[in-house]
Amino acid sequence: MKKHLFINGEWVEAAAYITLYSPYSKEPIAQVPDANLDETERAIEAAVRAKSVMRKLPAHRRAGILERLSVLLDQRREEAARIIALEAAKPLKTALAEVDRTVQTYKFASEEAKRIHGETIPLDAAPGGEGRFAYTIREPIGVVGAITPFNFPMNLVAHKVGPAIASGNTIVLKPAEQTPLSAYFLCELLEEAGLPAGALNVVTGDGKLIGDKIVSDPRVNMITFTGSPGVGIGIRGKAGLKRVTLELGSNSAVIIDREVNVDPIVARCVAGAYSFQGQVCISLQRIYVVEELYEEFTQKFAAAAKQLKIGDPLSEETDVSALIRERDVQRSLDWIDEACRQGASVALGGTADGGILMPTVLLDVDPAAQVSCKEVFAPIVLINKVRSVEDAIALVNDSDYGLQAGIYTENVRTALDAADNLHVGGVMINDIPTFRVDHMPYGGVKQSGMGREGLKYAVEEMTELKLVVINRN
Ligand code: NAD
Repeated sequence: MKKHLFINGEWVEAAAYITLYSPYSKEPIAQVPDANLDETERAIEAAVRAKSVMRKLPAHRRAGILERLSVLLDQRREEAARIIALEAAKPLKTALAEVDRTVQTYKFASEEAKRIHGETIPLDAAPGGEGRFAYTIREPIGVVGAITPFNFPMNLVAHKVGPAIASGNTIVLKPAEQTPLSAYFLCELLEEAGLPAGALNVVTGDGKLIGDKIVSDPRVNMITFTGSPGVGIGIRGKAGLKRVTLELGSNSAVIIDREVNVDPIVARCVAGAYSFQGQVCISLQRIYVVEELYEEFTQKFAAAAKQLKIGDPLSEETDVSALIRERDVQRSLDWIDEACRQGASVALGGTADGGILMPTVLLDVDPAAQVSCKEVFAPIVLINKVRSVEDAIALVNDSDYGLQAGIYTENVRTALDAADNLHVGGVMINDIPTFRVDHMPYGGVKQSGMGREGLKYAVEEMTELKLVVINRN
């Protein structure tokens, strides 16, 4: 399979191609463009030229394109899931769930396209404002530069492309090096859905080369980035006055209070910790359990995690497959070793088989160990004992990150106190921090980022507020 650049509504032969390999089988899966600066320039030019077309496209047309896209993707959901499984080693059932969410994301985007509006302002509230009528409108920001990670190659692209089209913008998309095929598949669907030429342009290749060009080009009006904190912070430093939204990493935690029914919580926590090998920005990484339930919880959790099926992402049975890069396997093993040297014990896993890190459970982990205080992005979870929910909240907050957190409790007062005191973008009461549906406001505090996604909120980020004042005097 050979893919070409998608620029100005056309498939453009690139000057250079690289071979894309499966992270699981290590076999070649496609030839993909390794775009250079000239090609990135052409993509930006096309997006700039298409601005006036998109700006004038009526809301019902933008909504119609997104609605058709959502239907087309639904019709080809199995093909789409296989692409994700192949390029990202995402187990097929998880990949199918991603496609189904992506269908929803574009559907929400199509609905949101129809309700972008401002408000009227009572100017006579201020002396001197009498006899004037004012209203606001939201205008498209222009060219959106979208840079996306490998871990949700369809749905996180949708969280940028969907609201950008809904609000009448044009896009230059740079997907992650390892997952370009999902993005090119989207281009095929959008061609069929009737998107005007130049509204979406996709360039694949070196992140730093292409990323720097998109981030520093003055004609790009906004950068929407999802990825690692290091890259995100660098982007913010280079972007100048461009609007920037950053959806970055985390080390998400859940708190288990006394008197809860452990069994359903264990099942949910196992899913939250090991889905897609823990390579999810809100993956469950830290579990704090009150001492009364600690033994029961850890035993049941380790037993449940042991049942996970390890293997080929293309098998419908598989729960856990290869990590995205081999070096992440060694890094994970090093971090596990470090935690053990600092007093932790391994209740499950702790070993690797080729590119696969076995689902791992660590107990009594020092908060300073990297598996606790950094983003682990691997199938590793720690379970620590706490004396009280208050202590647990302090531990959750003692982090450079703050994306989402969860608490299981039967006590409404405890739940509401936790909602007040957890310093994160979203608090999940009686659920894991990994819960997300696609229209909710989603984003973090501290090093987890800035700005919010979730269609309505992303549309706000991708539009500018304009005020119109009419003097009737
Ligand atoms: P990454 O930061 O390595 O790459 C993300 C994107 O940035 C890729 O497209 C990459 O090519 C590009 N890039 C690399 N260097 C660049 C540069 N100098 N300038 C501009 N772009 C550059 O991240 P990844 O490994 O693909 O994804 C994993 C990370 O993403 C984790 O930290 C995870 O938590 C985070 N993430 C966050 C969210 C969220 O919504 N908060 C969602 C998913 C993933």
